[in-house]
Amino acid sequence: EANDSRFIIEREQRYGVHHTDSLPISITRGQGIYLWDGEGKRYVDFTSAFSAVNQGHCHPKIVSALQKQASILTITGRAFYAETLGEYAQYITSLFGYDKVLPVSSGVEAGDMACKIARRWGYLKKGIPDNEAKIVFAEGNYWGRTLAAISTSTDPKCKKFYGPYMPGFLLIPYDDLHALENLLKDDPNICGFMVEPIQGERGRVPSPGYLKGVRYICTKYNVLWIDDEIQTGLGRTGKLLAADHESVKPDLVCLGKALSGGVMAISAVLANDETILCLEPGEHFSTYGGNPLACKVAISALKVTIDEGLAENALRLGKIFRKELEKISKSIVTEIRGKGLMNSIVLKEDLKTTPIKICLKLRDNGIIPIQAADNVIRFMPPLVITEEQLMEATKIIVTTINSF
Ligand code: PLP
Repeated sequence: EANDSRFIIEREQRYGVHHTDSLPISITRGQGIYLWDGEGKRYVDFTSAFSAVNQGHCHPKIVSALQKQASILTITGRAFYAETLGEYAQYITSLFGYDKVLPVSSGVEAGDMACKIARRWGYLKKGIPDNEAKIVFAEGNYWGRTLAAISTSTDPKCKKFYGPYMPGFLLIPYDDLHALENLLKDDPNICGFMVEPIQGERGRVPSPGYLKGVRYICTKYNVLWIDDEIQTGLGRTGKLLAADHESVKPDLVCLGKALSGGVMAISAVLANDETILCLEPGEHFSTYGGNPLACKVAISALKVTIDEGLAENALRLGKIFRKELEKISKSIVTEIRGKGLMNSIVLKEDLKTTPIKICLKLRDNGIIPIQAADNVIRFMPPLVITEEQLMEATKIIVTTINSF
């Protein structure tokens, strides 16, 4: 009974807060790119837990790092020192080329901390009058569902009756450099612009040169660019950071998800001293932030990402994947977009079927996609996928969608 999918789903819905977006499928085991349900049916995971398992489910090296440290020391609460945080901080900062790391747990917490740092920097370094600092976000953003994050959301579903919202947050259209410049040039109280290199919520890819333009405009008006790489980072788009595609360096980088290879909640903000040291000691605290277990797991997850060439694999296979998706009938799909292994298809508006029906059919055929906002279906397999596995899965995707 405990392995029965219907039982599992019904019990969760009875006792857990409901989560209407979940596909009716219950998974009991994962390894690499594969997931198995209670009945033993195997699926290829094209969700990667929204990019948390870039390294594949239960990667043996990451699991081993977790198990090893779990029996040595798991947490200090930062009441005293442990050697692991220094080791991790040195490793991650030199890998990404920043002075310091602020270790936290969830992605939304990293985004919140980045906003805090930007505000503090705005007051101390830019001379913004107290309580006047503003941060700009792009429409269609997703960085979590806390009060601060929903305050910037343009999705009415997550917002209604949760107000009042955070003041000092402004919105501009995504992929619109003119809008950014127009706002920044007239408002000296703007301290930051937080943006995703590809918007996860709709799989939206900006025009080439967008990030370069963001860098240029933010520098010109002395505004911090906060790069939310929580979903796009760590190889997903074919580079270690999506910003690397345009060879630009953000002022603050938020990482999460695959920073642990999916085995626990670990996130981080990377920045240089001139911004991050605007926080004084004792002004920030997080019980689990930088705990020894997290540090060892993050080092391992990063090393796997580098050693196994996951970004390179994503870059190469992404091109093949998008080319194969071209075989889907144009009467069903109007656009194929993405970078690396972060891809999505846009379904034609007036289809006789619905995105959920297509997703359920894909599930029946052993593929688990992400049903995203609007008419978008997303495909994000673990980056350890091989060309052979990808081709096999893609054939199923194409045939399934063409059957509608
Ligand atoms: N930022 C981006 C771009 C995300 O995609 C997400 C999660 O989907 C977050 C932030 C929030 O991360 P978390 O769910 O770990 O709080």
